[in-house]
Amino acid sequence: MEPTSVSHELLLDHLQDGVCFVDQENIITYWNKGAERITGFLREDMIGRECETDLLGHGDREGNPVFEAQSPVMRCLGDGSTFEEEVFIQHAEGHRVPVFSRVSPILNSRDEVIGALEVFSDNTSRLQALSRIEELEQLALLCPLTGMGNRRYTQMALDNAFQELRRYGWGFGVLFIDIDHFKQVNDTYGHGVGDEILIMVASALRSGLRSFDFVGRWGGEEFIVLLPNITDDVLKRVAERCQVLVRDATYQHEGKTIQVTVSMGGVLADPEETVEQCVDRADRLMYESKAAGRDRITLG
Ligand code: GH3
Ligand code: MG
Ligand code: MG
Repeated sequence: MEPTSVSHELLLDHLQDGVCFVDQENIITYWNKGAERITGFLREDMIGRECETDLLGHGDREGNPVFEAQSPVMRCLGDGSTFEEEVFIQHAEGHRVPVFSRVSPILNSRDEVIGALEVFSDNTSRLQALSRIEELEQLALLCPLTGMGNRRYTQMALDNAFQELRRYGWGFGVLFIDIDHFKQVNDTYGHGVGDEILIMVASALRSGLRSFDFVGRWGGEEFIVLLPNITDDVLKRVAERCQVLVRDATYQHEGKTIQVTVSMGGVLADPEETVEQCVDRADRLMYESKAAGRDRITLG
């Protein structure tokens, strides 16, 4: 199983659309191949460039600038506003190219704008462009908070692992992990501290795993771990190590030490079942751990 083999860059470079990401400091930090093709501006010329003015020279059919003071990207960075319009941009060689452009903010878990994404496509109908944007949104595979794979990525890793189980008989284990009483952490210390605790738990889990294991964020305070090359004994040992590492991790906040525990359910994947059935089995066992008092591991 090699879930890390799909890089964002690779995927984004295969899109026909131009994709450009501008960070909070107005700096272009991402420019894909599609953007190179449509605009004629190369990645190495664009990355690191400040987006102070409307670099792409968005204009209307007659060539009049469509933005007076601020481009949609700058406006988006300022107030999170989105933009969606057919416009013309100026190609590096001078001619104008009709594009359908869409700008949307990228938010962190606290709903703060951390950058603006511009997606533009040429020669495509509006509808086609929209469905590509959905495709693009789905391609965002990482959880920005913890840096680990998000639900979609985890789903891909699970699909992969099942294919390998069926094709080559390579077995693997699945741990479903849920933080105990996490709502209480948010309620007592605030959502920001809750986020820090999520980061802490993510690091604790990672440090308990072997280099070829995979951990992804499945939902709010739920994680899924994939363990290739596993037996019942090893599954138990890895789960216990993760449990202890989470329990012993501490977060300091205003003179208080915050600690959390997790409840886990663990199974070995069965080639006869679907991904959903496997996750469901692990999830149910996790609930048994909750019912038995939390900070527990139940293996199937
Ligand atoms: P249990 O032991 O039964 O799991 O209790 P719990 O409080 O952990 O369970 P519950 O599902 O009621 O609450 C989960 C909480 O996780 C609710 C939600 O606000 C919080 N949460 C989900 N995602 C995030 C996040 O990204 N950041 C923060 N700070 N909280 C989150
Ligand atoms: Mg939960
Ligand atoms: Mg919980």
